[in-house]
Amino acid sequence: MSTRVIGVDLGGTKILAGLVDRAGAVERHRETPTPLGSQAELLSALDEAVESLRDERVAAVGFGLPSQVDQRTGAIRGSVNIPLGALDFRTRMSERFGLPVEIDNDANAAALAEHVAGAGRGEPDMLMFTLGTGCGGGAVLDGKLYRGWAEFGHIVIEVDGLPCQGFCHGRGHLEPYVTGLAATRIARELFGPAADSYRLVRLANEGDEQARKALAGIGHKLGAGIASLCNVFGTDFVVVGGGFGVSGFDWIAPSALETAKRDALDAAGKTLQIVRAELGTMAGLAGAALLAFDAIER
Ligand SMILES: [Zn+2]
Repeated sequence: MSTRVIGVDLGGTKILAGLVDRAGAVERHRETPTPLGSQAELLSALDEAVESLRDERVAAVGFGLPSQVDQRTGAIRGSVNIPLGALDFRTRMSERFGLPVEIDNDANAAALAEHVAGAGRGEPDMLMFTLGTGCGGGAVLDGKLYRGWAEFGHIVIEVDGLPCQGFCHGRGHLEPYVTGLAATRIARELFGPAADSYRLVRLANEGDEQARKALAGIGHKLGAGIASLCNVFGTDFVVVGGGFGVSGFDWIAPSALETAKRDALDAAGKTLQIVRAELGTMAGLAGAALLAFDAIER
């Protein structure tokens, strides 16, 4: 009987949970809405997601969370978009299920999955930028997921620039320039109040020069962020994922690469590649499951 784990990707709108084998294949999965009323409701929805998939082969559970996670203690410090406050999450879940539990930030989980089973296969070092409604990221260095703080969306690319989104009080961070929300803002300036990021990408696909130029402008900002992080981590392989990052990739990536090659030091800049994520919406779930296997094998 071979071991299975349960991976859970907790998002702002849905809970995606799956039964996963050692090769990363998702055997069964279920999707339910994220209750946003209270922490108690949210925790019981997570309990139910795990219990409904659990069978006698399940040896561990992994969670990818849109939260600030303290890796040493397994505690959550807080979350921006969901009602999950300061909480000793790993202990709570491990006692509830009587199994080893591993947790990480959702963007870190997605980066791990792309490294093992997606666009970053065979690359020892890799950076991933996830562009959705927010901008997250993760780094794999020397074949291992960097488990520390990796808030790629909140590096400064323009001093005194645009105010950040949500609860971040910073200015000129990468996030307000490169997300789907940023694309929607730009689309409305160009094409009126009914336009959004989806329409901007569709227009670019259909050959609209203004839309292509707008997306290239987003890529230019992203390229500055990529270059800065390549210069920090010494990596030359970058994966772009997330709903907006994947759909707009063809129009964002060329200018991102051009800018990143200009601004990255030669060590990384000469050989820099920017590729599209491959795992789509399952990346977070698959990454959470890989973390769970790590918890068993540790
Ligand atoms: Zn910020």
